[in-house]
Amino acid sequence: MRNPIISIENIYYRYPEASTAYTLENISIELYPGEMIAILGPNGSGKSTLARLLNGLLIPTKGKVIVDGLVTSDEKSIWEIRRKVGMVFQNPDNQLVAALVQEELAFGLENIGLPPVEMKKRINEISERMELSHLLDFPPHRLSGGQKQRVAIASVLALEPEVLVLDEPTSMLDPGGRKRVLWELHRLRQMNKTLLLVTHDMSEAVMADRIIVMEKGKLALEGDPKECFANIELLANIGLELPPAAELAKRIKQKGLVVPNVPLGVKDWVEYLCLQ
Ligand code: ADP
Ligand code: MG
Repeated sequence: MRNPIISIENIYYRYPEASTAYTLENISIELYPGEMIAILGPNGSGKSTLARLLNGLLIPTKGKVIVDGLVTSDEKSIWEIRRKVGMVFQNPDNQLVAALVQEELAFGLENIGLPPVEMKKRINEISERMELSHLLDFPPHRLSGGQKQRVAIASVLALEPEVLVLDEPTSMLDPGGRKRVLWELHRLRQMNKTLLLVTHDMSEAVMADRIIVMEKGKLALEGDPKECFANIELLANIGLELPPAAELAKRIKQKGLVVPNVPLGVKDWVEYLCLQ
């Protein structure tokens, strides 16, 4: 049995400034190396809070988060944990600190003491892949929301962390920007990186090995995409959509026709139709 790279053990979290209610309650999740997990849930269900617990930005009120054997509540381990777990925030304005895009990309690399030649190489590679090369001399605050998001993602990717936590990374992107980010995720999976993707987009969620659905700070559902999207009623009650292919099957079924079982994409429909 493989060891998890991240173990979330029975955590509860309450914001210090909040009332008595817990924002997260009784959550346990294990994340294995090379796995991609998608986190779904309506606004306010606690997805971003959960993400911030994974690299010790927040410490659980009860319970433990363990990253590769290191407990996030142990202050001595925090920098090592942050090197292992890269975080792309929901709002890039909270992440960008430098005066120029190239400094933004260099910032983390300087912190880990990468030699200048290697640093330059990494910055060039990542800015090419994320189509940022023409923006290196721009101040981040002059960029569009989508460009800022790409810079934020690139600055974390440049550090090559083992685990990447991405909080709705495509929410501000146009279709081209989104495609580039999804391509990067695909590449990271091939490199056997561990990914945790918070998303509202069901077609992104179906790419994951495992889906976790949050509702009101609790874990409402967990399973692979097929298991998860078979729970049509539960998802509707929580207020979540189905992936387009599954939604199509649901509507056709309502008309009394026979449909494939939990199709997640075009491929499932094509296979089903070709076998008829
Ligand atoms: P999601 O990412 O799923 O939209 P969040 O984790 O951002 O959910 O928020 C979960 C709950 O925690 C919400 O009710 C939100 O109002 C509350 N919350 C988020 N950030 C803070 C904070 N800094 N202080 C107090 N409450 C917060
Ligand atoms: Mg959020």
